[in-house]
Amino acid sequence: MSKRAFNFCAGPAALPTEVLERARAELLDWQGKGLSVMEMSHRSDDYVAIAEKAEQDLRDLMGVPSNYKVLFLQGGASQQFAEIPLNLLPEDGVADYVETGIWSKKAIEEARRFGNVNVVASASKYDYFAIPGQNEWNLTPNAAYLHYASNETIGGLEFDWIPEVGDVPLVVDMSSDILSRPIDVSKFGLIYAGAQKNIGPSGLVVVIVREDLLGRARSICPTMLNYKVAADNGSMYNTPATYSWYLSGLVFQWLKEQGGVEAMEKRNRAKKDMLYGFIDNSDFYTNPIQPSARSWMNVPFRLADEKLDKAFLEGADARGLLNLKGHRSVGGMRASIYNALGLDAIEALVAYMAEFEKEHG
Ligand SMILES: *Cc1c(COP(=O)(O)O)cnc(C)c1O
Repeated sequence: MSKRAFNFCAGPAALPTEVLERARAELLDWQGKGLSVMEMSHRSDDYVAIAEKAEQDLRDLMGVPSNYKVLFLQGGASQQFAEIPLNLLPEDGVADYVETGIWSKKAIEEARRFGNVNVVASASKYDYFAIPGQNEWNLTPNAAYLHYASNETIGGLEFDWIPEVGDVPLVVDMSSDILSRPIDVSKFGLIYAGAQKNIGPSGLVVVIVREDLLGRARSICPTMLNYKVAADNGSMYNTPATYSWYLSGLVFQWLKEQGGVEAMEKRNRAKKDMLYGFIDNSDFYTNPIQPSARSWMNVPFRLADEKLDKAFLEGADARGLLNLKGHRSVGGMRASIYNALGLDAIEALVAYMAEFEKEHG
């Protein structure tokens, strides 16, 4: 068997080894049919069964109510930045946005191309070390929707609460923390997540949308970006990303076998407690985020002296601890510790960090 490193990449991220082994076993000959899933018609009974099972497993995992559609689309999370206003923001309406970092900022910039955007609050007032509480938000009465990013993948800032906005549809970019712990889907109008963090391979974005929000698209909305068209066609208006969808389905099955998102929450809590606990107990490593807003999935940290960054990364690589370099816009280090990584990955990382500190601290 080939050796698997611990991959702390922010995305495309590590996938469970068991999932890749299953995909490998099925790669040339899916269930005795003599062909690969990649070579199947998306209209074939076999593929439709694969797609429907993936959707049902995701619904089971997240407890998606029956008045929501689950869409498997393309264009990544970034395309949703345009797709959301094109579908949900009337020309004379206002969309509210919360700005907590790079991804929510990108969503805001894109939405501005399509209409009126009100930034209700920005974490810039806390240097992106904390999330402004809702009592500090300047909400628009009757906004078309409120958009926020539940986890800022680059800054490492995560909501541990769900905004309360009454009848205004709540729209959330959950790309990097979907399925990491249970959430109440019924609180949201629309949830979207690029697959390559906590779901599956890139090339796919999952959209969970309440049915009453379908059919509101602007007339200029391209057919391919219209949620209603996607929903009416089972996400197969055109050829979907069939293999990514299949592989995501294998991840959902794996999650169910692990005990679902409740089990993930337990495991993810233990993982982040171990890593943040180690960082907080050290004078050599720092994470500046306010504890209640610290991301469970993406842990940025700095060394006492950035001149040591290169040596730290080289040493990590040599031990099979991969992709710990922070985002180019932030510097420092970042450990992305999505569902596919177990506690053993954190133990290995912390052991290395302790050893490096002893040597260089
Ligand atoms: C990665 C990421 C995106 C962008 O995803 P793409 O699929 O590359 O477009 C958007 N939002 C968040 C929170 C992300 O983590």
